[in-house]
Amino acid sequence: MINHPASIFKIYPIPAFRDNYIWAIVNINTHYTTIIDPGEAQPVMDFIEKHKLALEAILVTHHHPDHIGGINALVKKYHPKVFAPISNYIPHADYRLTNDDTITLNNTECHFQIMSIPGHTLDHIAYYSKPWLFCGDTLFSAGCGRIFEGTPEQMYSSLQKIAALPPETQIFCAHEYTLANLKFAQIIESNNIELNNYRKNVKMLSKNKQTTLPSTLALEKKINPFLRVDQPTVKLSAEQYCKQVLHNETEVFATIREWKNKF
Ligand SMILES: [Zn+2]
Repeated sequence: MINHPASIFKIYPIPAFRDNYIWAIVNINTHYTTIIDPGEAQPVMDFIEKHKLALEAILVTHHHPDHIGGINALVKKYHPKVFAPISNYIPHADYRLTNDDTITLNNTECHFQIMSIPGHTLDHIAYYSKPWLFCGDTLFSAGCGRIFEGTPEQMYSSLQKIAALPPETQIFCAHEYTLANLKFAQIIESNNIELNNYRKNVKMLSKNKQTTLPSTLALEKKINPFLRVDQPTVKLSAEQYCKQVLHNETEVFATIREWKNKF
């Protein structure tokens, strides 16, 4: 894994739909870009034209339409390489990726390691290039994705896999859900000072229409209830909600995920 001298890269959030981010990694020396999860094409085309870039690759985390909807139009216009998980629902891909695969993008000058992280969908993968993690709809700041296809066990184990990365890992998730997630997180852990401080910062950023991302793994471990199910406070809140004793971390996780669905 190469280190990234900060001067060579810029990573931009391209807003799409209501609250999606399509991430763009730009190599400012080569003027090549790699795009993650283009749910729609037009905002990406506008970005590419504005910054006068060449599109080397598209990386896809999972099959949902708000992550793949722009692929065909971008391929037609710019002919990038498309990397995607093994999935029947993603019609166009040049390379199909699975856990522990690595990819090298010569013009953007990036290497990625693939992590299989099922739960939100069964095909979900993340792209890790130290210190960046592009994790789609699995981990959000102060929250996590809904479990549409997998089991709570799978989702929890995927989050634990992410949690095992270095604390300085930057979390590039695909939605601006932070403020809404924090509202729920505060109900779970009302006395968490770090959480309360973070919410103040996020409120300010949101008020000024600024992105709250990327987050860091170190911060998420302090404030994200879905990464804190081993904490007595989180377990107690979950037990009070479901009115029964929970026996392990997966049960606590499944309970607060279910609670958040109805929140
Ligand atoms: Zn999704």
